[in-house]
Amino acid sequence: MEIVESSRKRLFIGLITATSLVVCAVLALLWIVPTIGLDHIHPWAPAIWGGVVAAIILLVAWASLGLILSVAAGRTLPLSRRSRGLTIKLFLPLMIIFARLFGISKERVRNSFIKVNNELVLGQGKNYRPHEILLLLPHCLQSSTCAVRLTYDINNCKRCGLCPVAGLLALSEAYGVHMAIATGGTIARRIVVQKRPKLILAVACERDLSSGIQDTYPLPVFGILNDRPKGPCLDTLVPLDQLEHALRHFLQTQAKPVLFLPRLNAPASATK
Ligand code: SF4
Repeated sequence: MEIVESSRKRLFIGLITATSLVVCAVLALLWIVPTIGLDHIHPWAPAIWGGVVAAIILLVAWASLGLILSVAAGRTLPLSRRSRGLTIKLFLPLMIIFARLFGISKERVRNSFIKVNNELVLGQGKNYRPHEILLLLPHCLQSSTCAVRLTYDINNCKRCGLCPVAGLLALSEAYGVHMAIATGGTIARRIVVQKRPKLILAVACERDLSSGIQDTYPLPVFGILNDRPKGPCLDTLVPLDQLEHALRHFLQTQAKPVLFLPRLNAPASATK
């Protein structure tokens, strides 16, 4: 597990270093090319233009250094508190393009982005009250054989234990947090607008998690990847212990962990 985590971090640090170098090189070109003709406008024009571009280069370099430091050593640089926004808005799209050149899959980049985003959210060091947290789940967690409709009211679940929804309900009740199931991005956005959470704990695949993190910025999203023993979007699972651990961290609760969580009725071997 440790090895996987540090390889995700290494991938992120490598990509962010390469991306910021390319951004700085493009900015330097923007400086050099028009300088040739700018002195025709005003003798100071090349120097002013150079100063503006140099300031942007410094800003990008400082922000990426801040990100690398916070990922690698959990340290923050002065004025680099907004690094999560910069990662989301600027670096992730560029990193995906850049990674493609090296044959690195989007999924791997998104995976490392989610890991780093989670560390940045944890690094904000904020605690929340239960009603400020929304547990947002994908529809594919519900058993494909279940006839109950959960989209409008998750409490319609009969808690038969055939899928993780029963355990998730037990967790949300034990910790008093909101919980909702979204069948897609539009419904997820509507739920967020209705509930107005201050933190989202989202369960989904790499693609949906990274687009959800981007869509809801600056709202902090802590992402937990679902397990997909039957492939994408079908009877997916969620590591309940990981979810409970994250909940306890953000709530800073001293209460005992939920000792009994409903388990899946099917034996583990049958679901993998
Ligand atoms: S626990 Fe049972 S009733 Fe509830 S959603 Fe899953 S399969 Fe349906």
